[in-house]
Amino acid sequence: MNEKKSVTRKVSSLLMAIVLIILALSVAAFYYGIAAYVEGGDGSLLLLIGFSGMALSTYMLLQTRRKMPRIVFKPYQIATTILCQKCGFKNIREFQRGDYIFKEAEECPKCKEKMMIASIYREAEEKEKD
Ligand SMILES: [Zn+2]
Repeated sequence: MNEKKSVTRKVSSLLMAIVLIILALSVAAFYYGIAAYVEGGDGSLLLLIGFSGMALSTYMLLQTRRKMPRIVFKPYQIATTILCQKCGFKNIREFQRGDYIFKEAEECPKCKEKMMIASIYREAEEKEKD
């Protein structure tokens, strides 16, 4: 049950590690670029690589943080329980627009009596069960 969650965590931590490596390399490139300038050489390429690498990794970090809540979010599953008042037959189906409690529903398959909507509730998500 928890396999999917741990896989997602592994992927995001791997991505995080890659981003941090890019960031570290960019900082190193930036540092060497400055050092080259100090020594009188041409460090503009290293500075450019370092700067764009830092900008890219910072952008990626911000993107992954923004995407996190979207992945976690799941739409509600609403269920409607239809109950036969005569024989007690119970039927659960997906919520449909216009459903309300005590609304008359379809015929009971057992006794052919008109059934009634007994309750409308949010279905417990399967993944929440541990
Ligand atoms: Zn019935």
